[in-house]
Amino acid sequence: MKVSRRFKLQIVISGILTLSILFTAAIWLFASFQVNKKSLETSYLKNNYWYAKKLASETNTLLSSMDAVLQTVADQAAYHSGKEMQEDVAALMDSREPYFNSVFIVDQNRIVQAVSPSATGISIGQQLDSSVSQRAVTLKKPFISTPYRGITERLIVLVSYPIFDGSGGYKGFVGGTIYLEGDNILSNMLEKHYYENGSYVYVVDQTGHLIFHPNKQRLSEDVSENKIVAKVLKGEEGFGKVVNTEGKTFLAGYALESKSGWGIVSQTPLSITNEPICNMIVRSVKLAFPFVVLVWFFAWWISRRISRPLQQLASYTEETTKTLGQPPVPIPRVRTNIYEIQQLFESVKYSSQHVHSYLSQLQEETQTDGLTGIANRKTFDFVMKDLMHNDIPFSLILLDIDHFKKINDTYGHPMGDEVIKFLATVMPDVIREGDMCFRYGGEEFCIIVLYSDEEGAGNIAERLRQTMEQSISPAGIAATLSLGISAFPKHAVSPNELVKLADKALYQSKQEGRNRVTIFSQGFSGHV
Ligand code: GH3
Ligand code: MG
Ligand code: MG
Repeated sequence: MKVSRRFKLQIVISGILTLSILFTAAIWLFASFQVNKKSLETSYLKNNYWYAKKLASETNTLLSSMDAVLQTVADQAAYHSGKEMQEDVAALMDSREPYFNSVFIVDQNRIVQAVSPSATGISIGQQLDSSVSQRAVTLKKPFISTPYRGITERLIVLVSYPIFDGSGGYKGFVGGTIYLEGDNILSNMLEKHYYENGSYVYVVDQTGHLIFHPNKQRLSEDVSENKIVAKVLKGEEGFGKVVNTEGKTFLAGYALESKSGWGIVSQTPLSITNEPICNMIVRSVKLAFPFVVLVWFFAWWISRRISRPLQQLASYTEETTKTLGQPPVPIPRVRTNIYEIQQLFESVKYSSQHVHSYLSQLQEETQTDGLTGIANRKTFDFVMKDLMHNDIPFSLILLDIDHFKKINDTYGHPMGDEVIKFLATVMPDVIREGDMCFRYGGEEFCIIVLYSDEEGAGNIAERLRQTMEQSISPAGIAATLSLGISAFPKHAVSPNELVKLADKALYQSKQEGRNRVTIFSQGFSGHV
């Protein structure tokens, strides 16, 4: 038969408790990781959104100021010419914080009238032929261009303001340039907000081309495919997760600058949220560790309280089954408040007491004779064998009621039983202490007289014979006995032989007239 593996209850309970504690701790850590990650992400997203909005508003202010200064120059240019115009643009560039990298004035045919500083790559009298200047002239309105490469191959954004004379006639425009790749007022403003943690800001124009990016190489790149850029160009504002061209995920906030239609995006790498979360987990584990150990000890203690009484019970039942038939093992004292265990102990105690009393009853029943209550033939055989085995000398008296059939026939079987019972009560009174009486079968009995030769046993047998002869049995008459005696080891050394010889002597008593004692002797049996 296949024996399945067995585990002790305490191991099982503490195992289950340890696993549940570990699982709970893991679930708790996982849950707090998720919650913290979420809230950290949300806070970065919102911060970036508010930051993008703030930059949009600052950019708006800047562009309005640019417009204002260009308008001033345009107003003057309507009446000035030549040297005055040159002074106007130079004055603009000479201010402490010039808005533009260069300023110039062109007429309606895009012929340069004034330019400052002088080393810009264009000179007075030159006609500008870029599509951007053509557009500015065609529009005849304040205009902010998309990035384009100027004559000097610089990447430029042009901010222009139209010039109208007093009668409303168009006279050209004042242009201010922003050199995207160099130092400019826009990058000065945006870069001062650059942070350490990998966050950065970029700006796209209304067509989705980069006009500001920390990586200058990427300026003028078309990023309109970017999910966030697409949204901001549609006029939306908000925040969201976005994967950049390098496959890196960012938490981005975006806002629109309404005057120019530029989109401003502020974003933080998602990976930077990992560090504070890992720190949080390490801190939590450190903080929770002593409590987990405490809870574990408590669980271990509880499991011991539950399993110990059950363990005691298991050892008790194991011991009891091993020692069945021997004196009962004392039931252990149990200290438990658990109802089920108490009940289990009570029922085990109860059934063990029952099994024991049943066993001792069974034992008694197998050893004693049902009618007389004295030891039976089986016990007689056992005792005799045991005595012989241990070489303890003894004599055997075998006795039989005379003419018992007649008693049965005359007074009935139940009365015969009463006579048998009567003899059984007489015998113990006659024998010595330590001697043993047995019912051999029917109305035959035997007595083992310990440490006695046949003569000593003969005296006892004679005493018994006389007692019965002189007693009135329940039948109302005296029931006499015939007795035969043999001795161990003198006459025989085996149980069968010894019984046979005692029976022979008994037979002789019957032969010689009954109501007498005969001691076995070789050749013949002599009377007492
Ligand atoms: P003897 O003097 O030769 O012994 O004559 P007896 O009549 O006693 O003859 P025997 O010993 O052969 O007969 C025994 C009788 O005892 C036979 C049987 O019916 C009866 N007997 C045996 N056991 C019981 C018993 O338990 N109760 C009763 N009432 N009678 C029994
Ligand atoms: Mg008989
Ligand atoms: Mg008889």
